[in-house]
Amino acid sequence: MIRVLYVTSEVFPLIKTGGLADVSASLPEALCRLEYDVQILLPGYPDALKAARKTGSSQRVSFQVGQYTVSLWQTRLPGTAVTLWLVDCPPLFDRPGNPYKNEEGKDWWDNAHRFDLFGQVGAMIAMGEAGLDWKPDLVHCNDWQTGLIPVFLETYQDRPGTVFTIHNLAYQGLFPHDTFHALKLPDSLWRLEQLEFFDQLSFIKGGLVFSDRITTVSPGYAREIQTPEFGHGLDGLLRHRQQALTGILNGIDTRVWNPEQDPALAFHYGQDHLKNKAHCQASLQLELGLELKGGPVLGFIGRLVEQKGVDWLIAAMPELLEQGCQFVILGSGEACYEEPLKELARQWPGKMSLTLGYNEALAHRLTAGCDLFLMPSRFEPCGLNQMYSLRYGTVPVVHRVGGLADTVQDPQDVGIDKANGFSFTGASAESLLDASKRALQLFQNTKHWRQLQKNGMAIDYSWKQRARTYASLYQRILKERDQPQLD
Ligand code: ADP
Repeated sequence: MIRVLYVTSEVFPLIKTGGLADVSASLPEALCRLEYDVQILLPGYPDALKAARKTGSSQRVSFQVGQYTVSLWQTRLPGTAVTLWLVDCPPLFDRPGNPYKNEEGKDWWDNAHRFDLFGQVGAMIAMGEAGLDWKPDLVHCNDWQTGLIPVFLETYQDRPGTVFTIHNLAYQGLFPHDTFHALKLPDSLWRLEQLEFFDQLSFIKGGLVFSDRITTVSPGYAREIQTPEFGHGLDGLLRHRQQALTGILNGIDTRVWNPEQDPALAFHYGQDHLKNKAHCQASLQLELGLELKGGPVLGFIGRLVEQKGVDWLIAAMPELLEQGCQFVILGSGEACYEEPLKELARQWPGKMSLTLGYNEALAHRLTAGCDLFLMPSRFEPCGLNQMYSLRYGTVPVVHRVGGLADTVQDPQDVGIDKANGFSFTGASAESLLDASKRALQLFQNTKHWRQLQKNGMAIDYSWKQRARTYASLYQRILKERDQPQLD
């Protein structure tokens, strides 16, 4: 059985700020079903340690890393058989709330030290130096927080294979030159071809330069990040490593996101019995104080940041509200987006609902209760919400980028028989508005609309096939590293 250490800074349901958490739960579980021994490594945030105590946990080993005493707690990912290790180091991880930011929304001042230590522990487990009776054949790293692991492992001849997955290239873990010295990284790494990025230390470059293979979360994004427009300054490096780079589309947890059984919904429905979707809509309207009327209700869930195209959404909303649409918005983020949304909610009582904050159950009810779901992201590595919407018969309107382009097919391109949503290419509020209007026009044609809904609901979004693709990649890496096949 192939053993994989899956290293991540978030995992659902223990700690989540975005899609990384969902993937970090679903993929290891799907791989375990394929008889891979995948074990997850996560920082010991207080909520994660608390949840572990509930599930059952034990402190397995304790050791010193520099000035810090670290304990490894072993538990299981709740509701699964997947082993989860928590890196307990209270001075670095015993902090409330968001894993990366303080209560004022600023990055923790010592993030470099926090994720350097996390990486060191990951490398120790990988090399069998942490005192566990388990040693992986392969380490799967995710995003910049794990970027130093392939760097630490590079010095060992007999190291495990390494994969680094980019969930979002915009977040790179950049720190000043002084931090590079403070972390006592070897001077030889301070080069453009290694960890230096325009006179800064780049954690993500560790993963991109030193891992055996790089993956990202959709084929479209894998192509885009090799271009200056989407490469965030790393496109040259990614072109250089293009033989090692692949895009594997994310799946979704089809048990958590299932309109036939979703515990957050008062009514359930499916591909061949959509009637109850209208009841879900009415419940949502009642819950949020919207006028009770039959659609169109347009939804948005997500971080209110530039990436998500919230400014285009805000600019497009008045005209769509004038036309009789209702809006349901759920998210939190930057004040420059929260304030105008609050203003719109004040101007359009009964027609626009804004919920600021994070609310998992409402996200499910919103996905079920809307007719259209808008995702005008400037860039989108994969995007999960469009897949949740498709599965819930809620037709997505998306900017044709990254994983959105890979998952949403527009009737203009493929015809109504194969289409499942609408997409636009021009990066602007006008283009979003045009695509939304096209969607609203088709919404009037019940037969065509049902066809779109059913096309979307019929697609297999599960992790099963995708996990197999990761499994083949692991196999290839191990073969290339000339390790014996163990299964
Ligand atoms: P990203 O990782 O860039 O934030 P994704 O679409 O990949 O975007 O994943 C976002 C995940 O977080 C989805 O599962 C989405 O439903 C969830 N989410 C984002 N904001 C909220 C919120 N305010 N309340 C509930 N769920 C949210």
